[in-house]
Amino acid sequence: MHAFISTRNRNLHVTSHEAVMRGLSEDGGLFFPEVLDIHIDPSDLRSMSYQEMAARIISAYLDDYSPEDIRNSVYGAYDEKFDCSEIVPLRGISAGYLMDLWHGPTSAFKDLALTVLPRLMTCACRMEDYHGTVAILTATSGDTGKAALAGFRDVPGTAVTVFYPEDGVSPVQKRQMQTAEGNNVRVIAVQGNFDDCQRMVKEASVSEQVRNASENVRISSANSINIGRLIPQIVYYYASYVRLADSGAIAYGDEVSFSVPTGNFGDILAGYLAKRAGLPVRHLICASNKNHVLTDFLETGTYSTNRPFYTTMSPSMDILVSSNLERLLFEESGHDDELIRSLMKSLNETGTFRIPEEMLASIRNTFKASWCDEDACAGMIRNLYEQEHVLIDPHTAVAVHGMNLYREKYGTGIPCIALSTASPYKFAIDVYQALTGIQHSDGFEAMRKLHEMTGEKIPANLADLQDKPVRFTQCIARDEAMHVITERMKEIGE
Ligand SMILES: *Cc1c(COP(=O)(O)O)cnc(C)c1O
Repeated sequence: MHAFISTRNRNLHVTSHEAVMRGLSEDGGLFFPEVLDIHIDPSDLRSMSYQEMAARIISAYLDDYSPEDIRNSVYGAYDEKFDCSEIVPLRGISAGYLMDLWHGPTSAFKDLALTVLPRLMTCACRMEDYHGTVAILTATSGDTGKAALAGFRDVPGTAVTVFYPEDGVSPVQKRQMQTAEGNNVRVIAVQGNFDDCQRMVKEASVSEQVRNASENVRISSANSINIGRLIPQIVYYYASYVRLADSGAIAYGDEVSFSVPTGNFGDILAGYLAKRAGLPVRHLICASNKNHVLTDFLETGTYSTNRPFYTTMSPSMDILVSSNLERLLFEESGHDDELIRSLMKSLNETGTFRIPEEMLASIRNTFKASWCDEDACAGMIRNLYEQEHVLIDPHTAVAVHGMNLYREKYGTGIPCIALSTASPYKFAIDVYQALTGIQHSDGFEAMRKLHEMTGEKIPANLADLQDKPVRFTQCIARDEAMHVITERMKEIGE
């Protein structure tokens, strides 16, 4: 059976269901599979449905779950909740391909993992014979929050609490969260940015005060710090490859590259796991917005958060502390947990760290980096619409921008797939402004205008959002967080 180990203590071994249930390791580290070369040959997945591939791939990693549990989880997740039977369709554009990851219940790629995770969590509780409540603490830069609220809504034995930056999400994202339904959910705005929210959740996860607040409650996370989030994300890298090979656009064995709009480094890390499992991936393009801390890191080997934080039209990538980079560094250092502890200590204390040259060289063999400013992002949205009638959201625009730069540098020999991570309607104000120069202050008005202009269908969950009652308006200061979370734990435990 595969063990999962902590990035800050490689001797701490847990099984896969324990890793899913715990979220973050108690030492502050992240769980990671001890062995990555698990050998999944894409040609063995030939002509399979998305669900079949998902069951096959997820079982390979989460191998203490029974095959029935995985199958039920996968088939329960990827059903009519997705408004497209392929689940993740692929489209050709002139520069390569777009992998559309936003056909799920909340219109962003987070749905691909957060429709499955609650099911995996329920199975884990059963395996542990645990009858209390799992409190899912979630920090969000916009999309994870709603996807977690939808995924865990009224799931027995769970309670969700979401923290989002008050001024750091799009109006539609905010409304999606404030109107969340279900008896086990809570949404709290924070006077701060995403990094503050993520730090609060990590701190609470390892805090004695919070852990001891109620004996009937255990803490876990729906963020990509939970390995149960990352593993379902491996599936679409394989699925898009298999579709291309089955259609004859490539041959099995050919290499492809992926351009990934990156924030917390979770999505792109799933691509790395796919490569290590045997998917022929040439490069992973780490595409950032104006908060290009990762681009600079991949160019210089120095990671530094000592820089201004910008709010952009791609808010889900407005992040300076990309948590999942820790997992890549752990793997690429040969599981050197001592090094990881010292790098993370340095990040905490000085806002910066530097990795050894050989490690950087090895990482750069696979990872390429690019970033794009706000004007280039808007220009990308406009150009693609004007030239090819393809409507994309700002996050996807950052990825397509990265794909174009990659093409200029490496030519067209390697097929490239950009991950399209959100519906353009989630960011209607900015998308409409990019296309027309006209700014609407109301997200719903912008949605209607965008629809009139383009004829693209508005996803059902966004179309009826305006009529839903707002349930959550609480807003807290950063220094209230531990108190608020402790009280919430007590309430959940009652
Ligand atoms: C979360 C998100 C991203 C960034 O993904 P990470 O896994 O955090 O790197 C990109 N685009 C959208 C729309 C997102 O919601």
